[in-house]
Amino acid sequence: MIIKTSADEIQNFLSDASNYSGFCDAVYFPENEKDIASILKLCNEKKIKVTAAGNGTGLTGSRVPEGGVVISLERMNKILELNKKEKYVIVQPGVILKDLQDFVEQQKLFYPPDPTERNCFIGATAATNSSGARTFKYGATRNYILALRIVSADGQTFEISREKFKASGYEAMMTTESGNIISFELPRYKMPDTKNAAGYYCKENMDLIDLFIGSEGTLGIITELKLKLLDLPEDILSCVVFFNDENNALDFVDEARRLSEIFFNPEDESSSAKINARGLEFFDKYSLDFLRKDYPNIPAHAESAVWFEQELTNDNDSLVDDWMHLIKKFNGSEEDSWIAIDRNEQEKFKDFRHAISWKVNEFITQHGLKKVGTDAAVPHNFFKRFYFECKRKVEDAKLDYVVYGHFGNAHMHLNMLPKNQNEYDIAKKIYAEICEDAVQYNGTISAEHGVGKSKRDYLLKMYGEETIKEMARLKLVFDPNAILGIGNIFDERYLA
Ligand SMILES: Cc1cc2nc3c(=O)[nH]c(=O)nc-3n(C[C@H](O)[C@H](O)[C@H](O)COP(=O)(O)OP(=O)(O)OC[C@H]3O[C@@H](n4cnc5c(N)ncnc54)[C@H](O)[C@@H]3O)c2cc1C
Repeated sequence: MIIKTSADEIQNFLSDASNYSGFCDAVYFPENEKDIASILKLCNEKKIKVTAAGNGTGLTGSRVPEGGVVISLERMNKILELNKKEKYVIVQPGVILKDLQDFVEQQKLFYPPDPTERNCFIGATAATNSSGARTFKYGATRNYILALRIVSADGQTFEISREKFKASGYEAMMTTESGNIISFELPRYKMPDTKNAAGYYCKENMDLIDLFIGSEGTLGIITELKLKLLDLPEDILSCVVFFNDENNALDFVDEARRLSEIFFNPEDESSSAKINARGLEFFDKYSLDFLRKDYPNIPAHAESAVWFEQELTNDNDSLVDDWMHLIKKFNGSEEDSWIAIDRNEQEKFKDFRHAISWKVNEFITQHGLKKVGTDAAVPHNFFKRFYFECKRKVEDAKLDYVVYGHFGNAHMHLNMLPKNQNEYDIAKKIYAEICEDAVQYNGTISAEHGVGKSKRDYLLKMYGEETIKEMARLKLVFDPNAILGIGNIFDERYLA
């Protein structure tokens, strides 16, 4: 196993895409699960901190070490088995999401989770329960995890498949592969009903595999994943629609969401519309301004845009008409809309969506600051009000900003763009207020990026200190010496 200790070799592992920075003594590059178990056993005995590293595209500093050693999963990057009949794939954690998706698509199969940045490791997408545009229809990574292999902090291994270990009420019990029994009580907090990636997933009678999904490298290191696949949709309609008034764009998203929900549950209401979006993504005026240089065909008058996708089947000939009708109803510009039916064009729309996230990160790096971008979601009925309140706060403070995101899920990325330390401090204050507002609306401070190190103070506000202590107690069940992923989700002091 390769171990790197020189400053220039470990430099890349001391930050992530949020520009959060840390320090460590060494980076280990295990080749297999046994290597991981032996590093963890040793570190556990000596109480050395261990941080698992994916590909460093995280936006919360969660893979950034605060001392100790890093375990990079990059050499465990094999696709181990594809079962076309039963539609699953078994992979090591260092497989890149994009590679996996391309591989299964060649077999006419489909792996839906799509964080906008697809250059991430599959193991990390499970550790953060990543989601993206298609989450609107398909849900987050959690929904596609059939089984995990995990090494706990003391080097014991678990094989956890769905339904294997279920809590009885809040009482939980699991066995390691060597037969050790671990019993514990689950915390009793109520998670928001919105899309959510803030803190451990805990609820009554839960399947215990869900505890590890989204646990941000704090409960164990994932060494293998069995993932559910679907049939690859035959064709997709993909469209970017421009609006001159952002109210129209917001109402368009809301109506497309409503119609899609009727489509999912037809018994709720009869509707002849065939609208069944798989993603509904929004861009505000400033996002479009940010992109204009690279995309000069963005109409000059556009105040906002919505990118939507829907899968095409044989029985939806009238689909384009249904969407055009909806676009017209909300004064979208039919002539200026970008429509893509062929795959190459559709990829360009994905790139368009990726470009805005990427450019924001580039801007922040250029200014040597950290990201001040919200990841909040609120229930749909509060979303429009929440959106305008957040914007007003930033405009009153005269900060530059862009807003975009997964509006079909009432989930917004408002990125403030401070140009100096003073503006950065103001932006941080507004960020805290926005998190508080999201919680007041029964929403979440993090719908998809997780908590990591940069959002733990806001998680504390979201759930209160007693709940954070319960989360810390739960962590200590699997990691009594407090070595794994330290600083993620809650401050280290709760582990004392
Ligand atoms: C431009 C851009 C757009 C993005 N858009 C989205 C988006 O739409 N949706 C979204 O969800 N995210 C998004 N992200 C965030 C990021 O891509 C995801 O969080 C992704 O899952 C991180 O993967 P990674 O391999 O880079 O992990 P890292 O950042 O390296 O690590 C993330 C976490 O996973 C843990 N971890 C890694 N591997 C393991 C393992 N094997 N076992 C246990 N723990 C492990 C780490 O300790 C850390 O806590 C975006 C990022 C960028 C830069």
